[in-house]
Amino acid sequence: MKTEVLVLGGGPGGYSAAFRAADLGKQVTIVERYPVLGGVCLNVGCIPSKTLLHAAQVINEAKEVSSYGISFDAPKIDLKKLKATKDKVSKQLNTGLAGLAKQRNVTVVNGLGEFLSPTSIAVKNGESSETIEFEKAIIAVGSQAVKIPSFPNGDPRLMDSTDALELDGVPEKLLIIGGGIIGLEMATVYNALGSKISIVEMQSQIIAGCDKDLVRPLMAKIKKDYEKIMLSTSVEGIEALDEGLKVSFSGDNEDEVFDKVLVAVGRRPNGHLCAADKAGINVDERGFIAVDKQQRTNVENIYAIGDVVGNPMLAHKAVHEGKIAAEVIAGHKAQWQALTIPSVAYTDPEVAWMGLTENEAKAQGIDYEKGAFPWAASGRSLSIGRKEGITKILSDKETGRILGAGMTGTNAGELIAEAVLALEMGACVDDIALTVHAHPTLAETFAFAAEMIDGSITDLMPPKR
Ligand code: NAD
Repeated sequence: MKTEVLVLGGGPGGYSAAFRAADLGKQVTIVERYPVLGGVCLNVGCIPSKTLLHAAQVINEAKEVSSYGISFDAPKIDLKKLKATKDKVSKQLNTGLAGLAKQRNVTVVNGLGEFLSPTSIAVKNGESSETIEFEKAIIAVGSQAVKIPSFPNGDPRLMDSTDALELDGVPEKLLIIGGGIIGLEMATVYNALGSKISIVEMQSQIIAGCDKDLVRPLMAKIKKDYEKIMLSTSVEGIEALDEGLKVSFSGDNEDEVFDKVLVAVGRRPNGHLCAADKAGINVDERGFIAVDKQQRTNVENIYAIGDVVGNPMLAHKAVHEGKIAAEVIAGHKAQWQALTIPSVAYTDPEVAWMGLTENEAKAQGIDYEKGAFPWAASGRSLSIGRKEGITKILSDKETGRILGAGMTGTNAGELIAEAVLALEMGACVDDIALTVHAHPTLAETFAFAAEMIDGSITDLMPPKR
C-alpha cells in the first residue's frame, strides 16, 4: 500500500491533521490501533468525563436548589444507564468521525504502526501485518497514564483514569493520588455519585500550574465536601488486603484502607512505542519527539504533533498542531504562532486560565497590573446560588495590554475563550472595559476585572492606587 500522507494515531490531533491534509488535496491514510477514531480524548478521556461531570452537576444542583425551597428526594443512580449514556455520546462522535473520514476519502487502517524506515511503516493487527509506504508522515501517537511500579498494578481496585471512567461500581472510600486535572475531575464525579473522597498531592497546592488565588475557591469547596486533602504528601506504599487497599503516606498521616485508589499522577508520551528510531527520529529518554515551529521532526519528511511533542498534553493543542503539520505538508507557510493554550479544569467550580500566570509574571520580573473581580459581587453568580468565583486579569503596566487572565466559577471553561481572543488580538484593558457585555452574565465579570484595573468599576469600589 502507498500513501502520500500517513498519519500515525487517530486521536483529535491525528484525525484533524488527516482531515485538513485531505481537504488540501492530499491522499491520506490514518493508522490507528483501536477500531474507532477519536483516541483517548473521545473514547476514554475528555468526552466521557464531561458526560459524567454533567451527571455530577445535575446531582449537585438538585441538592443545592433546596435553599430555593425546592427539594428532591435523594437521586436513584442507575450506573448501567449512566455508563450507557456516556458510551453513546462517544459512539455518536466515533460514527461522525468515521463518516467524515469516508467523505474525505481518508483511508483508515487498524493496527499498531511501527516504522521500518523514513518512508515505510509496518501495521500489525493480530497475526496479520502490512507495509505502507508513505511520502510524508505525521506522528500523533499521544500519551499514556504514568504507572508507579511499586504499586499493586494488577489489582482491579487500583485504577487509572480509563478504569475510573468505566464506572465499575462506586467505592465507599476512594483515594485519589495526584491533585491535577484528572484527579480533581474524577473526584468531582465520584463525590457526586456518593464516594467519600481523599486526595493526596505531592506539591503544596492542587493544580500546581495555576495561580493560588484562582485555585482557592475550588480548594475551599472541596475541603468541605471531601474527607481529606493531603498536600505536600506522597504515598509511601500500597498493600493489597482482602478488605481494601492499605495506603501509607509520608509525614504523620496514618495508614488508611480504601476501597479503591485512582492513580492520576500525570501522563507520559508514547514516542518509544512506534519504532521511531528505525525512521531515524530522535526520541528523548522520556518519550518526547522534538519538533520545530512547523511540527517537523529531525527527519525532513516526518512531522509530529500533540502529547508526544511536549506539554501541555491537551487535545486543543494537538488539533492546532495537526492543522499546522497538514498545511506545511500541503506547501503552506504555516507555523505555530498561537500566543497561549488555555487550560481548564472542569471541576465544581471550574478553573480556567490562559496567558501569563501571576507566578510566572513574578518569576520573570514583569511589571504588571492586576484586576480581580470577586463573583460575590456578580448578580448573575448570586442568582444561580454561587458566590465563590473570581475573575482576574493581568496587564502590562505600561501599555495596558492583556498578559494573562483566569477565572474560577460556574462555566469558567467557557468564559476563558474571551480572554484568549483578547490576548490574541492584542487587546488592552480599556478595550475589554469598553466592550459592552450583556448584563447580568458571568461573562461581564471579565469586563469588571478590566474595570478594576482602569478604575472605572462601579459594581465595587475602585481599588485605591
Ligand atoms: P497532572 O500533571 O495535571 O497532575 C498530576 C498531579 O499529580 C500533579 O499535581 C503532581 O504533583 C501529582 N503527583 C505526581 N506524582 C505524585 C505522587 N507520587 N504522589 C502524589 N502526587 C503526585 O496530570 P493528570 O491530572 O494525570 O493529567 C494528565 C494530563 O492530561 C495533563 O497534561 C492534563 O493537562 C491532561 N488533562 C487535561 C484535562 C483538561 O483539559 N480538562 C483533563 C484531563 C487531563
